Parts: sequence; structure tokens; C-alpha cells
Amino acid sequence: MIRRKTSSQDPPPGLPAALAAVDAAAPTITEQAPKVDRTATFPEESISALRSARLLSAAAPREHGGHGFTTAELTEVAFRLGALCGSTAMIWAMHQIQLACLTAGAGHEPRLAGYLATAAREQHLIASVTSEEGVGGSLRTSRAALRPAPGGVRLTKRAPTVSYGEAADSLLVTARREESAHAGDQVLVLVLAEQARLRSAGGWDTLGMRGTCSGPQLLTAEVPAWQVLPRPFGEIAATRMVPLSHVLWAAVWCGIAEDALRRSVRYVQARLRGKDGAPNPRLGWMYARQRTMLDAVRQFAARYDREPRAPGLTVHANALKMQVSRDAVGVAQLALEVCGMAGYSETGEFSVARQLRDLLSARLMISNDRLNEANSELVAFGDLV
Ligand SMILES: Cc1cc2nc3c(=O)[nH]c(=O)nc-3n(C[C@H](O)[C@H](O)[C@H](O)COP(=O)(O)OP(=O)(O)OC[C@H]3O[C@@H](n4cnc5c(N)ncnc54)[C@H](O)[C@@H]3O)c2cc1C
Repeated sequence: MIRRKTSSQDPPPGLPAALAAVDAAAPTITEQAPKVDRTATFPEESISALRSARLLSAAAPREHGGHGFTTAELTEVAFRLGALCGSTAMIWAMHQIQLACLTAGAGHEPRLAGYLATAAREQHLIASVTSEEGVGGSLRTSRAALRPAPGGVRLTKRAPTVSYGEAADSLLVTARREESAHAGDQVLVLVLAEQARLRSAGGWDTLGMRGTCSGPQLLTAEVPAWQVLPRPFGEIAATRMVPLSHVLWAAVWCGIAEDALRRSVRYVQARLRGKDGAPNPRLGWMYARQRTMLDAVRQFAARYDREPRAPGLTVHANALKMQVSRDAVGVAQLALEVCGMAGYSETGEFSVARQLRDLLSARLMISNDRLNEANSELVAFGDLV
């Protein structure tokens, strides 16, 4: 992968500087977005622009050279990126989630802390391999298991969906602790790109989120034992992966919906220019939905920063994801109705086709059915209401 030089001497920027850096990269990202979507290719130039602005270390702790951003701050960046390119934003968000999981799971292992510092300094991109053939999106279940190897452990995993796996500098992979472990006794393993053999097991020619390049992979790897994170995956998932994924994904989806809303406003303004008439009444409902959705995302982020171990956090995170994954599509559908054929077109300033297609992935990204089943049980028996 070609890297542009970044200076690791500069202190990482705070949120206003990070948002300004996103704005500075916006022309590149928006120009690349339709091409990346059309060709289903990794948004190399957009990610390079974020890397040059050192935005790939946003979630890494300050003591390891990262920005040490709070969830609320990460949410703002994800939202801003989502309005530019759904795939780029989702790649950025998924990577930040991996950084945060690595931080949470590293325990007192100095070599994992050392890797975090390397990742921040060199602006590594980290991919996630949790889904698995025969397991689907059941995060807390693995078939693959670690096996002893001369230099540590070895693992083989058939993963149906691995975003930007081939462009990543490392991967975080879930697996059973050992062959005799039950499906839920999982660990998270850091695999560096040079330790991984990825064999593409199919293409990625999907309805939306085409630039995430999330095709199936057969992964084989051998790593030293210290690269198995000491903290059980169940704890990392409950306290970090699930809440952070759901709020950052939701922020990206809100960003995409915001883009659709802005396009609708511009369309209505263009139609009304110089003519009498009333604005399309759908705009009011779109704004109401968008505002409520964004407030809910920001509120969750602030709550999670304040009380990272609050009771009921999982049910709240699941609920946020389920609701935003549908409401964001609702906003984009209304945008389609506002913009008419100009919205239905794949090109042009009023097109909302890519936004709508990208947003339709939201309900599948950990299936809403799975989350609803878990939440229905928690609501019925969890003393929540
Ligand atoms: C854009 C995108 C990027 C992704 N990137 C990654 C990645 O980088 N790494 C990764 O590991 N994964 C990734 N995923 C995978 C994702 O997070 C899910 O794990 C995966 O989409 C689930 O696959 P599935 O729908 O085939 O399987 P399942 O979750 O098994 O769902 C299949 C079907 O079964 C139904 N179903 C499942 N459980 C229940 C239930 N309890 N009750 C009723 N019906 C149920 C669902 O509704 C669905 O119709 C990505 C997905 C998307 C869309």
C-alpha cells in the first residue's frame, strides 16, 4: 500500500481540528465516492487523505500517540464523513472500533501496547473478522479455534464478510480459545497482515456499501501467543465492541441521511427559485426524523462516555442501532420522493440512489432480527421497564 508521509512529531489534533481536516479532505472524498461505488473498489485516495491528516488514530489512547477521542468526538467525525461517502465513513468507523477493542483487550501486555503505538504512528488500518460461515452475524459464537503451533498459535477461519481485508495492515479475529472450548468461549486475536494468508472466497458485488470491499475470505494465520488478547472476547464485546459499533455505525448512517436531506433541500430551493409555490411538505418530516435520530445518537455517545458500564447499555445500544438503521432509510426514501427522477438517477447533484443503497445495509449489519430477539428477551425479563 502506498503511504504518504505523516509527521508523528505533531500532537494529534482535537475535535475542531479533526473536523476541519475532514472538511479539507471533503473534495477528494466526495469526488471519489461515486467512482468507488460504481467500481466497488476500496477508496484508496479518500483513506489516504484521512491518513495524511492522521485521522486513523482517533480512537487510540493519547499515551500511545493517538487522539484519545471520546465516543462523542468519534461520533461527530463519523457523522461528518458519512455525509461525504458512506463506504469511506464506514471503513473509518470500523477501524476506530478495532482500535478501541484492542485498547480495551490489551490488558497489561506491553507488546500489544507497543502495537497500538505503532498503529497510531504509522496510521495502520485494522479490519475485523468476527462473522463466520455457519454462524452468520452471531458475534458471540465461533467455530474456528486456536491450535498450538511451534511459535504460538495457528488459526483458520472462513469469514463470509471481511471489509477492506486486503487493504488492512492488521486484522482482529474472533475464535474459540482452543479446540475443546465451547462456541462462546472466544478470544480476540491480533493478526498482522504479514502473518495472514487471505484467500478471497468470492466477490463483493452488492447493492450498497460497495467501497467497503467486504467480500468473503478464507483466513489462515500463525501468530505468537502474546497476540491473543488477554481479556475474554465476551467482555470486550459487551463493554466496547457492541456499544461502540452501534453508535458509530448509527453516526455514519445519520451522516448519509443528512446528505440525502441536504440534496432534497437544494432540489426544493432550485425548483422554487424565481417561482411562487410552497416547499415540499416532506421536508418538515425529514428534518424531524433526522434531528431526532441524530439527537439519539449523540445522547447515547455522551451516556456511554459518562457511564461505560451502565446497566442496560447493551439493550440501549441494540435499540439505537435497530431504530437508526430503519429511520435513516426512511429519510433517504423521503428524499427520493422529494427529488423524483433526479433523485432516482445514479448521477447528478440531486441523486440519492447511492445514499439509499448504502443505507439498506444498515439493517443487515448484525441483523436487526438477531438484535430484536436479544432485546425482546431483555425487555421481557431484564427489569428494564
Ligand atoms: C457493509 C457491511 C460490512 C461488513 N463488514 C464486516 C466485517 O468487516 N467483518 C465481519 O466480520 N463482518 C462484517 N459484516 C457482516 C455483518 O456484520 C453480519 O455479521 C453479517 O451481515 C450477517 O450475515 P447474514 O445476514 O448472512 O447472517 P445472519 O446474521 O445469520 O442472518 C441471516 C438471516 O437470518 C435471519 N436471522 C438471524 N438470526 C435471527 C434470529 N435470531 N431471529 C430471526 N431471524 C434471524 C436474519 O434476519 C437474516 O435474514 C459486514 C456487513 C455489511 C453489510
